[in-house]
Amino acid sequence: MSEGSPADVAVREGLFTVAADGSCHLLGGRCARCGEHHFPRTATCPYCSADEVTEVPLSETGTLFAWTAVTAPPPGYRGAVPFGFGVVELPERIRVITRISEPEPSRLRRGQTMRLEIVPLHEDEDGRPVVTYSFGPVET
Ligand SMILES: [Zn+2]
Repeated sequence: MSEGSPADVAVREGLFTVAADGSCHLLGGRCARCGEHHFPRTATCPYCSADEVTEVPLSETGTLFAWTAVTAPPPGYRGAVPFGFGVVELPERIRVITRISEPEPSRLRRGQTMRLEIVPLHEDEDGRPVVTYSFGPVET
């Protein structure tokens, strides 16, 4: 259930891609020397400091590790509150700090499957939707 489209404005360049068919991926880094993944991608590997990092699309689904609800807007934040916030573990052995699409903590459980989606955050000065990444529960 992705609401993103290639015409939307990403909250920050280089964090994720949205294909024409609506499928989306976070863009991580993979180190050619040690093989570890990381997100967001950095020029050097955070594990071994090698600069042999290539950009790779990360898995669309992961498992919920930790979560909470943010009820007061952080400084500079222009989106709606409350919103969910937490940590999702991806198969690449990365824990991604992320927005969580379900704002009610009691509706979530540890280890449940979460899927990446691109969600509207606010509109920019030209009225274009600014979007960001979020993980939402997969109905099972
Ligand atoms: Zn490395």
